[in-house]
Amino acid sequence: MTMITETPRAIGVYIHIPFCRQRCRFCAFYLDIAKPERMDAFCAALAQEITLHRQNQVIRRPLQSVYVGGGTPTVLPVSQLVSILQLIQASWPTEPSPEITVETHPSTIGPTDLNRLVEAGFNRLSVGVESLNQQDFAPLGRPGRVRDAKQVVRAARAAGFRNINLDLMYGLPGQTLQSWTETVRSALELEPTHVSCYALTIEEDTELALDVAHHLVPPPDEALQIEMELAAEAIFQAAGFERYEISNYALPGFACRHNLLYWTDGDYLGLGPSAQSYVDGSRFGNVADLSAYITALAAGYLPIGEQIRLTGDERNLEALIFGLRLVRGVPHHLVHPNTPQHQALHRLATRGLIEWKDDYVCLTPLGRRYADTVMETLYLAPL
Ligand code: SF4
Repeated sequence: MTMITETPRAIGVYIHIPFCRQRCRFCAFYLDIAKPERMDAFCAALAQEITLHRQNQVIRRPLQSVYVGGGTPTVLPVSQLVSILQLIQASWPTEPSPEITVETHPSTIGPTDLNRLVEAGFNRLSVGVESLNQQDFAPLGRPGRVRDAKQVVRAARAAGFRNINLDLMYGLPGQTLQSWTETVRSALELEPTHVSCYALTIEEDTELALDVAHHLVPPPDEALQIEMELAAEAIFQAAGFERYEISNYALPGFACRHNLLYWTDGDYLGLGPSAQSYVDGSRFGNVADLSAYITALAAGYLPIGEQIRLTGDERNLEALIFGLRLVRGVPHHLVHPNTPQHQALHRLATRGLIEWKDDYVCLTPLGRRYADTVMETLYLAPL
C-alpha cells in the first residue's frame, strides 16, 4: 500500500493529569485519587519530563496545540496548571494561534479559576457534562449537579473562553430516548462550539461491569443507543453542527485541532503517566503507573514503557485506520490498488461498512457503528 501524507506535519503536546476526586463507576482510565502530596510529586516529575524531552529535542517544530486532559486536570490548583502551561511555552516555540485546551469537571472549577486559565493562555475548555438529567448520575457514580455544569459553561464564556466543548454520554442506565434528546437540546442552549457524544460501553474491571454482572444495572441496549445516536445527529445538524468524526460534532471552524492530529497521521508528544506519543514514525508510551513515573524521572530517565519504530507500510496502515474515524474518510488515491488493505476495503464495502464517496473512502453510517470490526479487519490484512 502506498500512502502519502496530505498536509504538512504539525505537532501537539498532550499532558495526562492522572487525578480525580473519585472514580466514576464506568471509568477505566488510568488515574489516582487526588491527594495534595501526590499532585505535588506529579507536577515536579512532569517538569522533569518536559526538561528531558527538551534536552533530547524530540520536538523540532512549533506546537500547533496543547491539550491538558485526564483524569480531571482542574483537581490540580490552577496555579499548577498555569505553571505547566508556562513551562511548555518556555520549552518549545508555538504557532501564532495555538489551540490550548484544558478538560474540567464542573464540580472542580469556579469563575476565578476560569479567569486565571484564560489569562494564562488557555483558549479551549472541555467540560465533562455527560448528562443534563440529574437522575442519570447516580448509576454512574458520577459526582456533581446539573446546575453546576450550566453555571460553569456560562462562567467560562464570561471569562473569555470562546471555544467550549461539552462531553455527553448516551445509553446510560435508565436513560430514555426522550431524556437523551432533552439533554442534547439543553446542551445546545449552553451554546457550545463543539460537542462529543460517547455511547456508554461497559469496560472490564470497572464497578459498572460488576453491577451489570450482578444484574443491578441493565447492560446498554444497542438498538436504543443507535436511535439515540441518530436523534442526536439530526438535532446537531439542524443546529448547524457538522459531524466530522464518529463521536464529534463542531460548528464550522471549531473541529478540535489537537484531536485531528490523531486522525490525520499527525505528530504528538504525550506527557504524564500512560500518555502515548507518535513522533516521526515512532510510537512510544509512558508507564501507566504514577509511582514508577515519578521514580524514573527522579532518577533522570524518561518513563517510557515501550517504543516501536513503524515501517512505512505500518505507518500508512495506521494512517488509514485512524483516518477512517473521520466522517469524510481518507482520500482514496492514497490507498494503493491491489494491496491486501485495498481488497479488505472492498470486502467491507460488500458488507455495507465502507463506501467510496467524492474521491474519499469512508465508513458508511453502518460502518461507523461497527468501526472496531472495520479496524480489526484492516489490521489483520497482511502488509
Ligand atoms: S471524572 Fe472522568 S476521568 Fe475521572 S473518574 Fe470520572 S470518567 Fe474517569
